[in-house]
Amino acid sequence: MAGRRPRIAVVGGGIGGLAAAVALRRSGVEAVVHEQAPRPTATGAGVAIGANGHRVLRSLGIDRRLATTAVVPLRVDFRHWSTGRTVAGLGIGDSYEQRFGAPFRHLERSALQDALLAAADGIPVRFGARCTGVEQTPDGAVARFADGSVAEADAVVGADGIHSAVRNAVFGPDEAVFSGTSGYRALVPLDRVPDLPELAEPVLWLWVGPGRHVVVYPVAGGRLLNFLAVVPDPAWTVESWVTEGRTGDLLAAFDGWHPSLTRLLAAAERPGRWALYDREPRRAWTRGRITLLGDAAHPMLPHHGQGANQALEDAAVLAALLAGAGPDDVPAALRRYELARRPRTRAIQAGSRRNAACLQLPDGPQATARDADLATLPDRLAWIHGHDALAELRAPAPGEAATRR
Ligand SMILES: Cc1cc2nc3c(=O)[nH]c(=O)nc-3n(C[C@H](O)[C@H](O)[C@H](O)COP(=O)(O)OP(=O)(O)OC[C@H]3O[C@@H](n4cnc5c(N)ncnc54)[C@H](O)[C@@H]3O)c2cc1C
Repeated sequence: MAGRRPRIAVVGGGIGGLAAAVALRRSGVEAVVHEQAPRPTATGAGVAIGANGHRVLRSLGIDRRLATTAVVPLRVDFRHWSTGRTVAGLGIGDSYEQRFGAPFRHLERSALQDALLAAADGIPVRFGARCTGVEQTPDGAVARFADGSVAEADAVVGADGIHSAVRNAVFGPDEAVFSGTSGYRALVPLDRVPDLPELAEPVLWLWVGPGRHVVVYPVAGGRLLNFLAVVPDPAWTVESWVTEGRTGDLLAAFDGWHPSLTRLLAAAERPGRWALYDREPRRAWTRGRITLLGDAAHPMLPHHGQGANQALEDAAVLAALLAGAGPDDVPAALRRYELARRPRTRAIQAGSRRNAACLQLPDGPQATARDADLATLPDRLAWIHGHDALAELRAPAPGEAATRR
């Protein structure tokens, strides 16, 4: 066995699984991706990739390709729900890139998925392969699929998303935690809202108000506006990315909000609507030769915009730790990967939960204090966006916790 490169079965061909396969190949490790969808599909609207995610995309050689349709926002404007007043405006653009060493960009999720698939050219991607179980063997791991096929490998990486079959098979079912909120999201062509000239320049809008908030940003070279509107909704518990909501319900939830926002929401023809769940942070996500990655390992609410970024970081770290490993070294490398990644992703999971409450304060002294504090946001988020997953691996920097809030 000595001298042979490890072979890895990656279950799930989403953002994390494809990034892992590409990163593994660059590290000299063989990977095969097993994806349940019968063909490449990318559901979802926009995704924001910060400097921490971009560093990984750069290491995979795909950040330039994405730059052609990505949008770099000039600023983030926090706006008051009823008056429309900008309570804080923070420059992003060049100053963000200078500070964090890579850009902050808005992408269509499909563009990111396409770029990862193109980069995976030559890596076997088996579509229509729904994993139903995994198990360890004396010197390897096996993934089983609904069509009766089996993949034997030196390790199985479960990158199969929030409902991970790999996680369930290894650790048993865990309980989804419902946030009591749901998110409406849609892509609205810019030309459908000609009465909103303030959206002609690329800004990230964050509308904050009592019990609700809305994130708006342009994607696809500015042709489309992506929004995510988060509303309290204890009765809506459908945890799916592809369920349709009704524009009427959406507008009713934002009755009394500023017309600049409601005009945009009204222009969404068929908004998607999904109940927002996460899971409690895991105590472990590796057992022997089986590990988890991305949402399978650390599902998080979308309020830090970090789900995809963290999956990319995972992919880079996993591949770096498997570089140069022989098949016998794989379990130790997987343990190191989990140890490197768990504290950071746990902190971001917790922060994602806290952020919603902060964005949804009612008018009053707490909201006023929050607005005054927004100017310090870039400093408070530096531990997320300034993180270089690969550099940290080479030289762990103490003190990160000191900058966390
Ligand atoms: C459909 C979807 C749309 C999203 N849209 C947005 C967005 O618009 N904005 C945003 O900020 N974030 C979005 N997110 C969140 C963010 O993209 C995730 O945090 C990120 O995708 C995590 O990457 P992942 O690879 O871990 O999981 P995913 O991207 O969910 O990929 C998991 C993959 O595993 C496959 N899979 C699942 N089960 C099995 C199985 N049993 N066998 C084989 N394959 C399996 C799935 O088909 C999928 O391709 C979206 C997530 C999803 C799932």
